[in-house]
Amino acid sequence: MEIGEFFAVRPKEGLEELESHELKYGNGAIQAIMNFMLKNQLVDVFLSFTERKDHFSLKPVIVEEPKEIFDISLSQFIAYNLPNIDSVSKYVASKLNGAKDNDKKIGVIARPCDIRAFIELAKRDQISLDNLFVIGLECIGRIDPRELKKVLKKAEIDPESVVNEIINNGVLTLELNTGTTQAFKLGEEIDVRSYCNQCPKKVPKENVADLTFWIDHPLEGNEEIFEVRSTQGKEVLEKAATEVIEVEKLSDENIQQLKNYIASLEQTALELQESEFAKLDEMSDEERFDYIISNFEQCTSCMMCIRACPICYCKDCNVVRRRKELDPIMINLTRLSHVGDTCIACGKCSEVCPKSIPLCLISKKLVEDLKELWPGHEPGHTIEEIPPRSWKGMKAASGAE
Ligand code: SF4
Ligand code: SF4
Ligand code: SF4
Repeated sequence: MEIGEFFAVRPKEGLEELESHELKYGNGAIQAIMNFMLKNQLVDVFLSFTERKDHFSLKPVIVEEPKEIFDISLSQFIAYNLPNIDSVSKYVASKLNGAKDNDKKIGVIARPCDIRAFIELAKRDQISLDNLFVIGLECIGRIDPRELKKVLKKAEIDPESVVNEIINNGVLTLELNTGTTQAFKLGEEIDVRSYCNQCPKKVPKENVADLTFWIDHPLEGNEEIFEVRSTQGKEVLEKAATEVIEVEKLSDENIQQLKNYIASLEQTALELQESEFAKLDEMSDEERFDYIISNFEQCTSCMMCIRACPICYCKDCNVVRRRKELDPIMINLTRLSHVGDTCIACGKCSEVCPKSIPLCLISKKLVEDLKELWPGHEPGHTIEEIPPRSWKGMKAASGAE
């Protein structure tokens, strides 16, 4: 195996633990790999997901017992993600000591935006990438369970009957406890969240994932596709292939099919994002100012955006502490000045805002416009980029020794 190679992966036949569990997602390859990693201490724990109050709402949990991996709520995580203030990166930073304990290797499944958040947090010494094993997820976006429940109501389907969800080739297929399935075309009957539709980074491109995992792909069969992204990813896949999985290297033609599939999704997303930016660009300076301020005026100072943002890491946040005395406009301008240039466009702030303020769009546009000032600036792209507003960054920009 070499870094950069893609493999179709399936679990070996006769894996007792796998067969005794009712698998909720995919063909079982990812669960077999994660189970193998825990059993063989290739990681000490996995950050996993379990249902919070119903099938549509998850919370993060730490799994140490290999057999518990088979109960991972993967289909919900892929379809809906962690809700509200939870995110994989924030959990690692705040609840797992930023993965800074050198005697504890932490395995995570992370979307491309989680990985970008890891990078921004690592730049600020909030997490250590060295102690993570990252399985990067190909991600076409996440569905808002509230929207899905409206669609289910219209279709007279009891939400409690949903046991599993698969997103593939632009279709969300729900498996029901009656043994039947119900398919909804994305973009027509239900859609992913708007900022996901505009997210032009559907696979992790940064040099942080050890493996990437593709389940939504146009290739024949139900194989799960893995790409080897690092030396430790290669070692894990090679070892797992000796015991629990069967791997088949993808042909160049299949790899091209995968790349074309993602490139087309990313191109559509880029065009949508550009059209949103264009709406702001077409406004006069006064109109844009009014648009932003009138949105900020709606703010109720609930602080959910700050709590949800994966790159807001201050333990003693000045804005939170002074929220009752600060004007809502000042709250938002302060927040924007703190995270606006590092926003990795995950959309969490927009998701949680009770006033539907387009926070993600405003931050993203700020990042875009700042590229004129800081050419090449790309939050979450590489650990090597010095944050332009840091002391080191400002010193470099001024040419000082
Ligand atoms: S912002 Fe991008 S990476 Fe993050 S959940 Fe949405 S589509 Fe996936
Ligand atoms: S500002 Fe919003 S979109 Fe940007 S990283 Fe924070 S939560 Fe995500
Ligand atoms: S989530 Fe919305 S309402 Fe709450 S503090 Fe943030 S901008 Fe204001």
